[in-house]
Amino acid sequence: MSQTRFRGAVAPLRRRPAAERALTLPRVDEVVATDRPSEPMHCLRPATLAGAARRFVGSFPGDVLYAVKCNPEPSVLRALWAGGVRHFDCASAGEVRLVRQMFPKAQIHFMHPVKSRAAIAEAYSRHGVRDFVLDSLEELHKILQETNHAADLGLVVRLATPKGSAVYDLSGKFGATAAEGAMLLREARRHAVKLGVSFHVGSQCLEPAAYSRALELAGSVIRDADVVVDVVDVGGGFPVSYPDVTPPPLGDYFTAIADGFAKLGLPQARLWAEPGRALVAGGASVVVQVEMRRGDALYVNDGVYGSLSDAGVPGFRFPVRLIRPGQPQPSDALQEFSFFGPSCDSADYMRGPFLLPEDIREGDWIEIGQLGAYGGCLRTAFNGFDRVLLAEVHDAPLLETPGYAEEVAAA
Ligand SMILES: *Cc1c(COP(=O)(O)O)cnc(C)c1O
Repeated sequence: MSQTRFRGAVAPLRRRPAAERALTLPRVDEVVATDRPSEPMHCLRPATLAGAARRFVGSFPGDVLYAVKCNPEPSVLRALWAGGVRHFDCASAGEVRLVRQMFPKAQIHFMHPVKSRAAIAEAYSRHGVRDFVLDSLEELHKILQETNHAADLGLVVRLATPKGSAVYDLSGKFGATAAEGAMLLREARRHAVKLGVSFHVGSQCLEPAAYSRALELAGSVIRDADVVVDVVDVGGGFPVSYPDVTPPPLGDYFTAIADGFAKLGLPQARLWAEPGRALVAGGASVVVQVEMRRGDALYVNDGVYGSLSDAGVPGFRFPVRLIRPGQPQPSDALQEFSFFGPSCDSADYMRGPFLLPEDIREGDWIEIGQLGAYGGCLRTAFNGFDRVLLAEVHDAPLLETPGYAEEVAAA
């Protein structure tokens, strides 16, 4: 994948603090008017990203590990660091290397329950990673062998959680049953200086009580195991707003977690969370151009093999707005549109509906919001559509998520 690093009106002012730099960044409309991008343009909002990080780190009653897979773009990682994120949930050797290279002092946690032996060995010996997750005895043995039975390991046992009300259910792929979990905790305790238990309730989880239930489950597994536990990791899953979904405020989740944790009666243990989407979704949008209109279908230059994967089969609706620089204003009347992406594959279709002015036409640009999470990182080079532009901007997100606005405004 070749990424064209687009700078245009955007000065590469890397060394200045995010908040100060934000004042000198252009707006999306200015960049579109000047550069008239004919390739998808990712618009990063460093102030929004730093604000979301500050809000989460400042309010969550424990350590906040950013789930790097959600958006590993270096400017995103820098903005999160500026917002106070110091812990990173990595799932591959590539993510571990990237974070270590950018932040020598970062705390890196290897949170994938099934790792390659080479990745375990490299993370431990070359990048100072000490914390590893597991959900099987086989993985425990791999970790012990590849670290030469190190005496300074943090071992976290991942539990399966019952399917809840998350949009993405992750319970089928990873996680030990309650009985296995208790056995693994006892085994891992013998080898760990730090022992933890973790779960993931599923992504875009709309129900704070899902965390309460998972914490109860963790509590019963810990009691069965009858060992001292040092870390309780509630995973990711914290939701953001989309045009048809307004989640409960983030504070409701933190209250449910703090209450559920208190009930476990583990005053010596630390809480961790692994948010991805909640930290970065609002922090990036993608500007696409309309190449053809056919009735209520718009053929645009990005699609499900690009940054709009979640608009395909998962059917996420993203907030959109039309950009038509230097032209008569578009109609106020909105109409529902679906999108076709640029590839020849008929699966490259995004049903939406996306609400846009009824007179939208070829050559117009559309800004699509909430794409900081699971957007650009899913891009492929399929069918030759491998180029993407990148701009840093100081616009607010297209859609606010409850609980974030104050901090973002203050950023
Ligand atoms: C993907 C993932 C996350 C982040 O999930 P979000 O729903 O984006 O918050 C956190 N932890 C693990 C183990 C994951 O696989």
